[in-house]
Amino acid sequence: MGCRVKVPFGKQTLIGLVVEQPQQADPAVKNLKAVIEILDQRPVLPQNVWQLLLKASQYYHHPLGDTVATALPNALLKGEPCQLTPEVHWQITPQGKAEFDTLSKRAVRLRFAMNQLLQAEAPVQEEQLKHQDITPSTLRSLHSKGWIESFEAGQSATSFVKGSTKTLNDEQQTAHQLISKGADQFSPFLLDGITGSGKTEVYLQAIAERLDNQQQVLVLIPEIGLTPQTLARFEQRFPNQIGVLHSGLTDRQRLNTWLKARAGILRVIIGTRSAIFTPMTNLGLIIIDEEHDLSFKQQEGLRYSSRDLAILRAQMESIPIILGSATPSLESLNNALTGKYQHLTLSKRATGQKLPQVKLIDCKNQPMTDGFSAPLLKAIAHHLKQGNQVLVFINRRGFAPVLLCHKCGWIADCKRCDSYMTLHQGKASRYLQCHHCGGYQQDCKQCPKCQSVDLFAVGQGTERIEQFLAAKFPDYPIQRIDRDTTRRKDAMQSYIDAAKSGETRLLVGTQMLAKGHHFPKVSLVAVLDIDGALFSSDFRAPERAAQLITQVAGRAGRAEVTGEVLVQTHHPEHSLLQALTQKSFQQLAKDLLHDRTETDLPPTSYMAIFRSESHQKQLALDFLTATAQQFSMFDQHLQLMGPVASTMSRKSGRYRFQLLINASQRSTLHNAISEKMPNIESLPLAQKVRWSLDIDPQDL
Ligand code: ADP
Ligand code: ZN
Ligand code: ZN
Repeated sequence: MGCRVKVPFGKQTLIGLVVEQPQQADPAVKNLKAVIEILDQRPVLPQNVWQLLLKASQYYHHPLGDTVATALPNALLKGEPCQLTPEVHWQITPQGKAEFDTLSKRAVRLRFAMNQLLQAEAPVQEEQLKHQDITPSTLRSLHSKGWIESFEAGQSATSFVKGSTKTLNDEQQTAHQLISKGADQFSPFLLDGITGSGKTEVYLQAIAERLDNQQQVLVLIPEIGLTPQTLARFEQRFPNQIGVLHSGLTDRQRLNTWLKARAGILRVIIGTRSAIFTPMTNLGLIIIDEEHDLSFKQQEGLRYSSRDLAILRAQMESIPIILGSATPSLESLNNALTGKYQHLTLSKRATGQKLPQVKLIDCKNQPMTDGFSAPLLKAIAHHLKQGNQVLVFINRRGFAPVLLCHKCGWIADCKRCDSYMTLHQGKASRYLQCHHCGGYQQDCKQCPKCQSVDLFAVGQGTERIEQFLAAKFPDYPIQRIDRDTTRRKDAMQSYIDAAKSGETRLLVGTQMLAKGHHFPKVSLVAVLDIDGALFSSDFRAPERAAQLITQVAGRAGRAEVTGEVLVQTHHPEHSLLQALTQKSFQQLAKDLLHDRTETDLPPTSYMAIFRSESHQKQLALDFLTATAQQFSMFDQHLQLMGPVASTMSRKSGRYRFQLLINASQRSTLHNAISEKMPNIESLPLAQKVRWSLDIDPQDL
């Protein structure tokens, strides 16, 4: 049980996991084949993770095999041994340092390897050197010269916690004490604290306590790349005890960290979404930072919410769990208000700074220059002159979202999607790209319909804003931060460093900028265009818009001067915008929650969505119509909406439809789906279209 086996499968050989060992073979199954090889002596997954996977498979109505595959490290799925590989580290010997100069100029590889090792401050892992194309044979020849030496990294030292230099303030202290009291039992906490209120400090102290108790801690964060500072803070406090799990690791690295967590060698695991499945022998606490973040929900395959599984895991293992956020999801807030979670509030910034005020700029009838109103430009100039930094936020990358022919009205659209192509335009290049399917088109100089060259870029994206501001304020260094400028590894880190040092004065970016960073000198945050977020068919749009503005606003006002947040809109009277200027996020969220209750929407109801897509429109639609029929017998208890075309009705050439099911009881919804799933799976159309079921969907 729980061991991997190699089995024949048709003409292939596959890796499987033994789930059950019945006394007798099922007589209904003919031609059973023998296992080729048993790969493990002991189960690869400990009982607790195994139980979690069983529950996840049930809850998401997803095949167990694929659920297990989501949780297991790739190396294990490929059949590699479930063993720690020794971590060989290399460093330069004194002899190597002395004789390096005698190396021939033509020994390029050796020279490169030596240079890398010379530059490194500490011994470098062999695995890492491989990444830089330094091969074992290069290392062997340097070793035979006596220039480098290797050693195996030992197991981590016993738990060692560096003390904090900070004394918790009253609110932090209260939170800390309540969390302490919740140890050794299932106790969920919502740590609801404004940006900069010292949530991280509370996490660190809670972790320290669990480590003192010889336990392990699992920390889930939205995206590793975006939060290098947070990682550094953890590493400083708990040296050599932290394992980081994220998508940038090699299979080997991931397996090693996974195994060290399982063996209890690493005491703190910090990871993104899938880290929730990390086996840990002695787990004493789970922390989810930025619990509202959408990246905790997987949008394909097993469409799980890492946050929700974390709650489940904490419950199954009888341990405390902390959900932290400055802008909690309405789901979690609701649980806190109804007493399912303990509600811990941090209402003040730990450093004593005030939260910046949000003000609206009414753009109706105002002359606009490249998306900027005159009052906003004036404010930017003022803050720059004062010596501060300005952050300009626009949630759209590229130069312009639309390219239009002035003569005939033609618009560059994507042939495969129901959307326009985004124009990208920099110093050296100009091209069109579809942000949904990746479709690419060389620069379009002429209208394909009327051959006119009078083409207009309509609207603004980050590139255009950057170019405009650079021309308008040439004396101030500017940096754009979006998916395009941060593709290179470590790019983000260098931009953040430049911003923190005060060198960069103007920051232009997408929501990447809204997350986690603290820029000490930002005194003005400008939100260019929020109206798109106000009018969306998704009932969560107001919640998302409020979270986004509150999070970007949180980047301002850490400077000595109190910060300012200016939001441009054509709808200053909109109730959500009004609320943002007058209320705290917590008050506003309570209002939104009230609306959801009135309209019978999550979190007061429970949803599932069936989605289908196909190159043939009718097939995709017919499949969902047949699916809807399956549920018609429950129409007393289930609300069926659709099938209707998805918001993006065609993507990558496939037509997309969805069927939404809403229920006031979770059990009604799940029982109905469990009952009908076998029928749906055996519909003839189920083989002909791509389809999926999304439980607790986050996107409509
Ligand atoms: P959050 O995680 O809520 O955004 P942080 O924990 O990052 O907040 O704290 C914000 C800033 O305040 C950090 O610079 C941190 O070092 C500082 N800080 C946190 N708690 C305290 C405290 N009790 N006393 C002094 N400074 C603190
Ligand atoms: Zn034209
Ligand atoms: Zn497309």
